[in-house]
Amino acid sequence: MTATTSAGTAETGGTANATGAAGTAMATAARPAGGPGRRLDEGLIQRLVAGLTASGEATVIEAPFTGEPLASLRQSTAADVTEAFAAARAAQAKWAAVPVRDRAGVLARLHDLVLARRDEALDILQWEAGKARAHAVEEVLEVASCALYVARRAPRLLVPHRRAGAFPVLTRAVEARHPKGVVCVITPWNYPLALSDDVLPALAAGNAVVHKPDTQTALSALWLRSLAVEAGMPPALWQVVLGSRRTIGEPLLDSADFVSFTGSTEAGRAIAARAGQRLIGCSLELGGKNPMLVLADADVQKAAVGAIRACFTNAGQLCVAMERIYVDRSVHEQFVEAFLAATGRLRLGASLDFSTDMGSLTFRRQLEKVEAHVGDAVAKGARVLAGGRARPDLGPLFYEPTVLADVTPEMALYREETFGPVVAVYPVDGDDAAVAAANDSEYGLNASVWSRSTARARAVAARLQAGTVNINEGYASAYGSQGAPMGGMKASGLGRRHGGEGLLKLTEAQTVASQHVLGFEPPSFLTPERYANLLAQTLTVLKRLRIR
Ligand code: NAP
Repeated sequence: MTATTSAGTAETGGTANATGAAGTAMATAARPAGGPGRRLDEGLIQRLVAGLTASGEATVIEAPFTGEPLASLRQSTAADVTEAFAAARAAQAKWAAVPVRDRAGVLARLHDLVLARRDEALDILQWEAGKARAHAVEEVLEVASCALYVARRAPRLLVPHRRAGAFPVLTRAVEARHPKGVVCVITPWNYPLALSDDVLPALAAGNAVVHKPDTQTALSALWLRSLAVEAGMPPALWQVVLGSRRTIGEPLLDSADFVSFTGSTEAGRAIAARAGQRLIGCSLELGGKNPMLVLADADVQKAAVGAIRACFTNAGQLCVAMERIYVDRSVHEQFVEAFLAATGRLRLGASLDFSTDMGSLTFRRQLEKVEAHVGDAVAKGARVLAGGRARPDLGPLFYEPTVLADVTPEMALYREETFGPVVAVYPVDGDDAAVAAANDSEYGLNASVWSRSTARARAVAARLQAGTVNINEGYASAYGSQGAPMGGMKASGLGRRHGGEGLLKLTEAQTVASQHVLGFEPPSFLTPERYANLLAQTLTVLKRLRIR
């Protein structure tokens, strides 16, 4: 079990600078002697692990802050997945008969429990993902907001609705919404609690869920499930299984009635193909290479401060984080200066309180990718304006927030998602050039536009190929808007979470239409031809009267 740290002491480091470009100072937060703070309670871990459907070999996960063992988690076998689906199906049949208001009531209570127990969640998130506490807070707020939004809106969205019939009065059409059945939810490791909220609309819609969180961050998903049980959810309704795509991917995808996946574009393509073969629906929340546009009339100081959160939240391991900044040439120098100054003030470190601004990367493979991207860019002529180096003195997976200039298309990070604390800044000439550069990507997840004129920023936003656009913010305005759809265009995804769409995609629509007074067959006193003419004339009149 966890975990005292052996790495990192308080110090102030200068930025590494492979090219000799001007660097900025990097503050390093002091950590309490003996490690990042209190350990995760062993009893809590054991209680959470009991919620798994898993009988396979155990995998030991390591705490990113220290590299030391954090928990031992049994993996699920294919037979466990079959068992999980069988239990979920049995529970779903009963759950679908529970009135939607009562189902929603569970989520309203979950909202309260999440907020009341938030410190427990923050500790778990920091230990398993290595993120700063301020960034873990965003997860707690997201999941609570989602629970409440779904609780409040589901009854109205799911109630049967009258729709325009074939002929007014004669035809009465009603749209009903039925649950899909058992939804498979696959979530990644970067926002394990926030992304587990995909389960909530599925439950509200009357589905059961078989959930496969990433093993590294399974404890926070199990924590949310345990609170849902406390809030009144039948335990069998939300099954949690663990394992790699290689071992349990196929049984999972082949047993589900719908798949909700968050992860990389590459994995999303494979899942969509498999779902397509079975003709089941899927929603895919995938990768991004998100652009931030600083227009000529932007408040440059605010944009520079905003860029810090937009780029370096969770050490850049955030699907909606900014990895490209296009700054109007007229304010480029001013922006870069302010951005570097703000970057230099960031406090890095492992600490279970709010004394640090950025934590660690989560996996070694993530650190290796960041190092490879920066190394490749520097080798091909990019300039490091800030950061550019790992910080093993703080912990095994720390990397400094890094700002690059002179990035060109030959460099891997020009187009590829880095998913780390690395951003490239480019000068551009005018709004048209900024929009063209922003859209020059296979991705279309999130974008950010900075301007003193909301009208101008909105006009730019309308031309951006991105599922969400934040004005004078990096990502939180759009992501936090529970009532509005969130998801990606182009290679960034299919379908949306949040809003009505995020709930209704987890249902089957059924139209029940009844015919009254007159049917569609011609009455005995009219020939088929006359009846056809009468119907055509009726349509014309209805249009004139604006009834259709
Ligand atoms: P990944 O390789 O796609 O894996 C994500 C998770 O999904 C892993 O736990 C993985 O399990 C599992 N998985 C993938 N394919 C599966 C399959 N066929 N069956 C069962 N499980 C499967 O992504 P990653 O690199 O770890 O995560 C980072 C990526 O997620 C980034 O590209 C990021 O942009 C994206 N992301 C997108 C959003 C969004 O809302 N758009 C949010 C967060 C992250 P195993 O690895 O154990 O096989």
